Amino acid sequence: MFVDDNCVGCGLCVESCPIEAISLCEDKAVIDKELCVECLSCIDICPFGAIHQDD
Ligand code: SF4
Ligand code: SF4
Repeated sequence: MFVDDNCVGCGLCVESCPIEAISLCEDKAVIDKELCVECLSCIDICPFGAIHQDD
């Protein structure tokens, strides 16, 4: 998972993550890849399409 420049720091993804793997840093979402279980909730909820799966 990674966050692109379209992130506006709304925080919806932070709330959506079941394991609290996302935090906000300087108004950008940051995903802890060590914690992420790739449930894809954050991708679905982001209104700006800013979260993507790694290749
Ligand atoms: S939901 Fe999208 S725009 Fe909002 S903080 Fe998360 S990545 Fe950024
Ligand atoms: S894919 Fe799921 S576990 Fe990973 S950061 Fe997004 S909401 Fe959290």
